[in-house]
Amino acid sequence: ARGASLTDLAEKIGVDAASLVQVLFHLGEMVTATQSVSDATLQVIGNELNYDIEVVSPEDEDRELLESFDIEFGEDEGGEAELAPRPPAVTVMGHVDHGKTKLLDALRKSNVAGGEAGGITQHIGAYQVATEVDGTERKITFIDTPGHEAFTAMRARGAKSTDIAVLVVAADDGVMPQTIEALNHAIAADVPVVVAVNKVDKPDADPTKVRGQLTEYGLVPEEYGGDTMFVDVSATTGQGLDELLEAIVLTADAALDLRANPDMDAQGVAIEAHLDKGRGPVATVLVQRGTLHVGDSIVAGPAYGRVRALLNDLGETVDEAPPSMPVQVLGLTAVPGAGDSFIVVEDDRMARQIAERRAARLRMAAQAAGTRRKTLDQLFEQ
Ligand code: GDP
Ligand code: MG
Repeated sequence: ARGASLTDLAEKIGVDAASLVQVLFHLGEMVTATQSVSDATLQVIGNELNYDIEVVSPEDEDRELLESFDIEFGEDEGGEAELAPRPPAVTVMGHVDHGKTKLLDALRKSNVAGGEAGGITQHIGAYQVATEVDGTERKITFIDTPGHEAFTAMRARGAKSTDIAVLVVAADDGVMPQTIEALNHAIAADVPVVVAVNKVDKPDADPTKVRGQLTEYGLVPEEYGGDTMFVDVSATTGQGLDELLEAIVLTADAALDLRANPDMDAQGVAIEAHLDKGRGPVATVLVQRGTLHVGDSIVAGPAYGRVRALLNDLGETVDEAPPSMPVQVLGLTAVPGAGDSFIVVEDDRMARQIAERRAARLRMAAQAAGTRRKTLDQLFEQ
């Protein structure tokens, strides 16, 4: 366990804690029995005593915590029959200044789902747009928190929040270092890529060159016989935006089977959160399965609460949020982190218990991280 004490370890291996304190003392480290020690220290004791010590990852530990409450995160309940199609969740990535922010703004303005152009929109870290493909209205969820960091932060926590990555490449600048970095993140996350060749309005734009460059990195355009859709766009003039939305839907249909059970307690991921002076902690969450309702008891990372209100990306209050819908949640007792999972649980009591266990663990981990550095230094001094 992370942040465990010698007393915890002593209990697990059936020795008394005092003897473990002594073992460490002989190795030159003074630790009390109840103080939490680092994983490295636990391993050192293990070696000394010929125990094989397995350090459990925080993710596994959290899974065990939820399992102890009979909760499974990340699985749709029921079988095939319970699954319904859900919109893709899209992250926009690319080199700095290639137009990610402007493209996200342009897409939002031109296609706000269910709202008229010019309607009051609110930046909550994600939004949905609607587009017509083959005569059917299809929704797309864009995550518009500063793409790169949010994406990596979420991935680092093992949260898969993105179904498709839009790789923005400025046609006048071509493939740059962060283009490749972004591409590598998408590949590592096993997320299909749609390429938006941006700034094609510029006189020195060379979209063909971009296609050639990315082919070398394994993204072969459909028109060259590959399976990656490239779309020429201009965030400034609006050229190609509808085609880009269509390409996202077609890529989702071709490469992914995006379905979720809308009839279970909601689960998902926190995208953005902050403390609002008037409203308290405000978190934007992406519902990944189930439907989130006003009044639900919710845990988001180490925060918990009862959903007091839900706001959509237009700032309107809504009663519920189905899969792939981003909503702002009011009613949490604390501010969760970007990338923290959220789950709806049976009641407030359970929510509080889970949140408190997590908060305690975070404190211990922080403390152990402090101890760890000291410990290793001391050990190497020997
Ligand atoms: P980001 O760093 O990727 O978010 O890039 P921004 O969206 O901030 O855009 C960087 C600069 O490029 C800004 O000055 C934008 O106005 C400009 N820009 C973005 N898209 C286009 C485009 O399609 N055409 C032209 N001409 N300029 C663009
Ligand atoms: Mg930007």
